[in-house]
Amino acid sequence: MLNRILGRFSHDIGIDLGTANTLVYVRGKGIVINEPSVVALNTKTNQIIAVGEQARRMVGKTPSHIIATKPLVDGVISDFEVTERMLKYFFEQIHRDTFSLLPRPRVVIGIPLGVTEVERKAVEDAALHAGAREVYLIEEPMAAAIGARLPIQEASGNMIVDIGGGSTEIAVISLGGVVSWRALRFGGVRMDQDIIQYAREHFNLLLGDKTAEDIKMKVGSAFDDGQNIETRARGRDLITGLPKEVVMTQQQVREALHRSFVTIIDNIKTTIESTPPELVADIYERGIMLTGGGALLRGIDRAIQQETKIPIHITDDPLTAVVRGAGIVLEDLELMRSVLVLSSEEKPYSV
Ligand code: ADP
Ligand code: MG
Repeated sequence: MLNRILGRFSHDIGIDLGTANTLVYVRGKGIVINEPSVVALNTKTNQIIAVGEQARRMVGKTPSHIIATKPLVDGVISDFEVTERMLKYFFEQIHRDTFSLLPRPRVVIGIPLGVTEVERKAVEDAALHAGAREVYLIEEPMAAAIGARLPIQEASGNMIVDIGGGSTEIAVISLGGVVSWRALRFGGVRMDQDIIQYAREHFNLLLGDKTAEDIKMKVGSAFDDGQNIETRARGRDLITGLPKEVVMTQQQVREALHRSFVTIIDNIKTTIESTPPELVADIYERGIMLTGGGALLRGIDRAIQQETKIPIHITDDPLTAVVRGAGIVLEDLELMRSVLVLSSEEKPYSV
């Protein structure tokens, strides 16, 4: 009862704690935070210097007493303390913009499929320590499917593929639950590394992470549509040690990314193989929904469609689908309770 009253007045929030980006949805307001999951710390004083976009710009450019760190790796928390401080920073920003006398928020937060109990607990604890009153967990593909308005509560097969920065999650959902799934601990960041490796092998050129990501976004593609745009790639010559610039074509980048796509497509196929036939029939009819930043890669829909012979759709605004889904769940926690992940005590975890 008390919770119900508190719930009415607090700013309940939904969080997508991604390897690449963290988004926060405030009930009644929408998405209020959408920032890279990066924190810059002064190692002498242990103080936070910057969080989000401002910290991301410092990556690879910091003096020795500053570190710009990504507290999540491959979809899960790798630095607990920094994750907690990042969330706390975002919560404070939300509170600063509203009445700070409001009770602490209830939080719906996404977790990847297939995480361990310890990894799951780390997400709950980080949110609690950062100031949440109660934490509800939801599997990320479930949140993304809700965000994409798929009819997940119906007895029908809904297939969703979320290609993020550090993870790729493939799930078939029916009757509000995940029926079959695969979770890969790699995503867009691996593609950036593919480009770095290609430049090293073919041009003796060492590229920075950000440069590789820029190249991927500018000319990266998964499907040969006859175009061959190109871009300049700047880095350090591995032989002379001096700066060097080469031209990379769409074709070369596609070649670099090829192995990563093959892995993703193979896993989509094996997920379908382990899905009950009735649901597979639905998927063939309705298609597969792609989401996450990786869905923005040029031609990824056509590449998957060609290999699977299943129609592919991309969610509106793939980078926000998970947090929008968490927001929809927040609007009616009671009704949506069945799609949440139960904690070990079969009740929301709270302090
Ligand atoms: P996460 O959930 O892991 O935080 P996101 O869903 O936010 O990940 O997606 C981030 C990933 O998407 C990054 O690896 C980024 O490089 C990639 N990405 C974003 N936009 C594009 C684009 N236009 N083309 C290709 N990849 C993109
Ligand atoms: Mg994600």
